[in-house]
Amino acid sequence: TPEAPPSLLDGLDPDQRAAAEVVRGPLLVVAGPGTGKTRTLTHRIAHLVQDQGILPERILAITFTRRAADEMRERLVVLLGDVGARVPAMTFHALGLLILREYGDRAEIGIAVERERVQLVAQALSVTERKATQLCAAISRWKRRVARRAEALQRPPDEYPPGSDLDRAWAAYEEGLAARNLVDFDDLVTLAVELLESRPDVLVALRERFVHVSVDEFQDVDERQYRLLLLLAGEPQNVCAIGDPDQAIYGFRGSDVSFFFRFREDYPAASVVRLGKNYRSTRTIVDAALGVIAPSPTVGERVLRPLIEDRSRIVTHEARTERAEAEWVVHVIERLVGGTSLFSMDTGRVGPEDGEGTHAFGDVAILYRTDAQSHALVEALRRSGMPFQRRTHDRVLERAAAMAIVRSFVASHTPGAPLGPSLQTAAARVREEIAAPQGPEDAAPLAPAPEEGAEAPAFAEADVDAALVVLLAIAARSGEDAERFRLEVALEVEVDTWDPRADRISLLTLHASKGLEFRVVLVVGCEDGLLPLRFKGREDEADVAEERRLFYVGMTRARERLFLSYARERVRHGKPAATEASPFLREIEERLVTEETADLPKKGPDPRKKQLTLF
Ligand code: ATP
Ligand code: MG
Repeated sequence: TPEAPPSLLDGLDPDQRAAAEVVRGPLLVVAGPGTGKTRTLTHRIAHLVQDQGILPERILAITFTRRAADEMRERLVVLLGDVGARVPAMTFHALGLLILREYGDRAEIGIAVERERVQLVAQALSVTERKATQLCAAISRWKRRVARRAEALQRPPDEYPPGSDLDRAWAAYEEGLAARNLVDFDDLVTLAVELLESRPDVLVALRERFVHVSVDEFQDVDERQYRLLLLLAGEPQNVCAIGDPDQAIYGFRGSDVSFFFRFREDYPAASVVRLGKNYRSTRTIVDAALGVIAPSPTVGERVLRPLIEDRSRIVTHEARTERAEAEWVVHVIERLVGGTSLFSMDTGRVGPEDGEGTHAFGDVAILYRTDAQSHALVEALRRSGMPFQRRTHDRVLERAAAMAIVRSFVASHTPGAPLGPSLQTAAARVREEIAAPQGPEDAAPLAPAPEEGAEAPAFAEADVDAALVVLLAIAARSGEDAERFRLEVALEVEVDTWDPRADRISLLTLHASKGLEFRVVLVVGCEDGLLPLRFKGREDEADVAEERRLFYVGMTRARERLFLSYARERVRHGKPAATEASPFLREIEERLVTEETADLPKKGPDPRKKQLTLF
């Protein structure tokens, strides 16, 4: 018999292939980290297009971040060529906006950015911007639980007190947004759901448009997102949910892992596929991660079989202070990347024999629980001269300068004219404003928040440049459509400046590391109080279960080497305090761990600790 032609699905193992070959009806894929869930999802979509002849435009792929959506599209282009770019891959928010714009008679809709929200509340209640910012955050938290204030008012008064600052702020906020024809980010999915529930014609149109709907990282859906998913999945219910309950880390934001179980109830006929092979990490890393997640409840057996055997160990390190910890991090990376003076001075060995000197900067990620921890790291990395990038959700477009550019653009742009030159003019005008000596009233639109202090104007100048770069990129995407530009700007509130392909050390929070992988991962701050995290004033409480999953997510980002460090003393909430190692570390089997003592200037060798080199 002639050889079968190569198929798209050859890149999948039999279990993954079984999932990808379910081309009709509901499908649930439940599997641990690094088992190829995202890979399976991408191949399945490619299979639907290439082998099943489904138009790419009709296959909706939902992700949780814009970056993940871009990555999915890129992977599809690799598999399918240019056709792959036509698959609509987008976030729930972007989907909500698309539905409202194209089907909701709300083409005029605008999205309120943080600054507008804060100003609205500050003015309505005559409070400081700082207070208004807190109130806005509280409103957002509530809106993720109940979409409307009216609903919150039905709660018991000890939970939601009517007439409280929060309540008055929310009332003013709802009124203010409505008066300006604005919605906020939290509203997008809610309003889309309401539209689909009240307009059967729209529902039919959308179901005809998207004949397949898939969602990756399904463990992180919230109630409204789940409802939207259900609504979109018409007959024959071509809905595919892929995720890992052990990686549910957004409970604090209203995500609810119980939708996994709901999915099986709502779709009793769903095909359920489990993947059990971990392609990403070495056996050492998988075993250690399994130790950490073991106490977490699970349905059935938790299967994660490593395919990569190794003999290296996980390195834990105790530093005296946060600063010493950061210096140790630098030291480790210098040794991994090799060729630096510190490295050769220290060990006298340069070479690939033990994994030393075989890594690029881009292979390394430093993960932490809270953004505040990045400062010591950034300082130490700066001193070392090694290239790094921090993944922040930089709110470039929320700063005053960006708002002023957009405002001045809207005021002066001629419809149909190219956007770029118009933006340049607007930016020039804002620059002039900053440069001109101003009375306090004139300065108002650009006034910094009070706590930003005297340096703010200099900031604003740099902000203009940063904002202009982002705005021009959006303009390029929008063609000459100013309305589309305005909406894209609103969706782009959080600009992710992190570049996965850059040869730089990545600094990111554990949350931001979800879905990613790196050859080397260092998790810093493995301390009780940070992992699990306890908030100021609520020191007794911690959502230990969710924090455990978060640590598990972090550990399982590593492909080859994992380093875990903690400091004995850390400044938290403004004062230095003694700390204990994270209880999660005790969950890792001893045989998998080397305790590193390299930079600890102790009186003598600590007999409890093995004096081992890193590699
Ligand atoms: P996470 O839960 O962290 O999101 P995941 O289950 O989505 O992980 P992927 O990111 O899809 O896992 O895959 C993990 C790694 O394993 C990737 O580098 C991927 O290319 C590789 N991989 C997955 N399946 C296979 C396979 N069948 N053959 C070769 N490599 C694979
Ligand atoms: Mg994934």
